[in-house]
Amino acid sequence: MAEKGKTRKTEVPDIVEKGSGVRRGMSATDLRQAILDHLHFNQARLPDMATRNDWYMAVAHAVRDRMMDDLINSLHYLERKEIKIVSYLSAEFLMGPHLGNNLVNLGIMEPVRKAVAELGQDLDDLFGQEEEPGLGNGGLGRLAACYMDSLATLRVPAIGYGIRYEFGIFDQELRDGWQVEVTDKWLRLGNPWELCRPDITFQVGFGGRTESWQDEQGRYRVRWIPSRVVKGVAYDTPVAGYRSGLTDVLRLWKSEAVESFDFQAFNVGDYYLAVDAKVISETISKVLYPNDEPAIGKKLRLAQQYFFVSCSLQDMIRTHVWRGGSFEDFAGGFAVQLNDTHPAIAVAELMRLLVDEHALGWDTAWGITRETLAYTNHTLLPEALEKWPLPLFAEMLPRHLEIIYEINGRFLDKVRRRFTGDEGRVARLSIIDENGDKYVRMANLACVGSHAVNGVAALHSELLKQTVLRDFFDLSPEKFHNVTNGVTPRRWMLLSNPGLARLITDRIGDGWVKNPKELRKLESFARDVAFQDAWRQVKEGNKENLAKVIEERTGISVDPCSLFDVQVKRIHEYKRQHLNALHIITLYNRIKRDPQGDFTPRTFLFGGKAAPGYFMAKLIIKLINSVGEVVNADPDVAGRLKVVYFPDFNVTNGQLIYPAADLSEQISTAGKEASGTGNMKFSLNGALTIGTLDGANVEIREEVGEDNFFLFGLNTEEVHDLKAGGYNPRSWYEGNPQMRETIDQIASGVFSGGDTGLFRPLVDHLLHSDDYLVLADFQSYLDCQDRVSAAWRDTQRWTEMSILNTARMGKFSSDRSIREYCERIWKAKPAQ
Ligand SMILES: *Cc1c(COP(=O)(O)O)cnc(C)c1O
Repeated sequence: MAEKGKTRKTEVPDIVEKGSGVRRGMSATDLRQAILDHLHFNQARLPDMATRNDWYMAVAHAVRDRMMDDLINSLHYLERKEIKIVSYLSAEFLMGPHLGNNLVNLGIMEPVRKAVAELGQDLDDLFGQEEEPGLGNGGLGRLAACYMDSLATLRVPAIGYGIRYEFGIFDQELRDGWQVEVTDKWLRLGNPWELCRPDITFQVGFGGRTESWQDEQGRYRVRWIPSRVVKGVAYDTPVAGYRSGLTDVLRLWKSEAVESFDFQAFNVGDYYLAVDAKVISETISKVLYPNDEPAIGKKLRLAQQYFFVSCSLQDMIRTHVWRGGSFEDFAGGFAVQLNDTHPAIAVAELMRLLVDEHALGWDTAWGITRETLAYTNHTLLPEALEKWPLPLFAEMLPRHLEIIYEINGRFLDKVRRRFTGDEGRVARLSIIDENGDKYVRMANLACVGSHAVNGVAALHSELLKQTVLRDFFDLSPEKFHNVTNGVTPRRWMLLSNPGLARLITDRIGDGWVKNPKELRKLESFARDVAFQDAWRQVKEGNKENLAKVIEERTGISVDPCSLFDVQVKRIHEYKRQHLNALHIITLYNRIKRDPQGDFTPRTFLFGGKAAPGYFMAKLIIKLINSVGEVVNADPDVAGRLKVVYFPDFNVTNGQLIYPAADLSEQISTAGKEASGTGNMKFSLNGALTIGTLDGANVEIREEVGEDNFFLFGLNTEEVHDLKAGGYNPRSWYEGNPQMRETIDQIASGVFSGGDTGLFRPLVDHLLHSDDYLVLADFQSYLDCQDRVSAAWRDTQRWTEMSILNTARMGKFSSDRSIREYCERIWKAKPAQ
């Protein structure tokens, strides 16, 4: 699609007077004037009439101005065909608040703080004004955000492509201990970070039918005649690298109705249907699906996926053609990463664009598609692999289904030639699931259409090869990679834990920010008593901060000297927040039995959202709050135990919580968590981990050393064997008096005012199926927690372990992950 207003290339003039004046200057004086100007010209407000939001907007615009030179330069890179661009396709980007991060990455935190103070405002108050764009559910979306930071920091030209949801992940409120979902109206007061690009739009079709025709060269061609068409409009958000001089772009698509579209041609005389279609087109980018795992058969979700993938691929092709690239070399111009299967329709859409729209031959197009695309898998739970009911797919994307049949036919022919007679294997590899109701299997489509497939932690990548993707591994082992996830040390240390960052930099210089392996230099200070004192002081300061906020939000006062034992993440049975709750109940019982006893004081902090339709997860939230109510109010406990549910866990709150944690709960059933990234943020900030051998915990333990990690529980193989032998949770319950006591208390209403029905479903589930082996791991977890309590009493040893955790977390920088993707999968290089 030709883009209006962009018809000829001109040389970009040298940036005039870089770094000075009201638009570019980095001094407090320039910034102050810039803020006042924006207040005047953008907000139309006099300073003494300005609201906090006016000030926030003015500051944000002043900061955004200072990103424009680099953004324009980077967009100019995109026009050079010798430069390979990384396209990161993700249905979710959980970016977190922009202002603070941009100040860190641009290196202007202090001058802005000064300028704002001179204007009578407090920068931290203005941070509090920002509504974070919650365009993701959890780890997967947050990973995409960390990767954008690292791509820009490493100067890799990249575009993050996704959806500009009008409503992101719901805000969580707690009423009577239950989760209540509240619409996230993050755009209500405007979004100063995005640039609407009304000239960058693409049309996306849905439904209808296909017809074949012969072109002038006598070739067989297919035309798709959709029954409705929507328009995607680009919204660009600049993503600044950390003092790298490069700013990448996050390009999110908003769906709109196509004004000029002639509904009459397709819905003869059906005016109402036409209006309905208009409404539907605006619905596509309305709301993020709040499920961590896919809900099968949601039509709108498939529409969202196809919508953003089609806009993004059309955008790439337009850029590629515009900069003079040939189709044959498309893969030299773009490396496209599929973040999970949500964008996997890209396989069929790129084929359609190349074959139907640009008249390439099938084999050429297929070569290009496979060379361009790569797929990251994020789950080992077979039930979480995305699949679409065939009738739904056929109705919405009839041409894509034809293309998928063609891809599948050719693919299965090859399989049959290699594994003659093995029809079981053919059925498992097929993109179409034909056991009973038919489905399109998106993971199979992604595997067949990509040149590389990767898992997100060493264990996960191994298990993929043995379980959910085993047949694909047998077929093409060379495609399989591991790229262990990472987190950006800019947001998750420099920004969120400035005290610790300063202490570290004072000791070892600031090289660690770009090269976190330099954190190893801290090892030599791990037993230095003065350094340990300073380290503890920072942690205590962070805990005091958090304690204040906890009191404001929940009314619960917690002791900053107690051990902060934290589990924040989405609520899922496999993550086992209920195992944590059972431990709290056993501690409570011990105190009740011996009220004068000597116990390690702990504050248990939980945070996380449950999918709105996930009954058991919501009941677990209620259980935690109910236990908290009893424990927190009991005078026998006398402040030695507090249980807090921190509402609305998101990036903003995470920045407050991770730096204040002493103990990080990473207690999923072995073999269920693909990687985890929360585990990395905690450990980077000096929390010790209590965890199973799951996901990246395995590698974290390897790095920090087994003496500095609290390991418990069954490993993957033991989990497998126990289940294979017929796991009977009831016998574990009957054989363990402590467990029996806690579960009986829950069942008998001790935490529900005598109501024996409330937690019955949870108790029944644990006793009768316990899919995630809570009972099998209970004793091991308890014993391990007792080791934690004992370790806490040796303050020096604990501090040493904490320092060693931070010192040895260099591997888990997302910069390392991005370097691996660049070298092994994308073959992309930093811009000069
Ligand atoms: C890091 C992060 C997650 C992922 O946490 P896990 O413990 O890896 O599941 C989820 N949500 C937010 C807001 C995060 O910052």
